[in-house]
Amino acid sequence: MSNGTQQKFSVDLSQLESLVCPCGSTLYQKAHEIKRVPALLSPTGKSAVIWVEVGAVCCACGSFATMQQISETEKQIKLVETTEVDS
Ligand SMILES: [Zn+2]
Repeated sequence: MSNGTQQKFSVDLSQLESLVCPCGSTLYQKAHEIKRVPALLSPTGKSAVIWVEVGAVCCACGSFATMQQISETEKQIKLVETTEVDS
């Protein structure tokens, strides 16, 4: 049973590029959509909600950063990880 082993890798965060908002801020909060699950579809038989992470909003101006923009950053982190394993 492997449930996505969290590989640890050491990266100097100061070396990584931050996602920069057009307003200049690099601080973001996660943004979620809240999906309603009707009782009929819910495993518990009770209506519920599911939080779906859809992106992030800038803490300074509230601009929305899409998952695509964020995954560009994640790609770079993966790249660093691969390089580390390689050496
Ligand atoms: Zn902003």
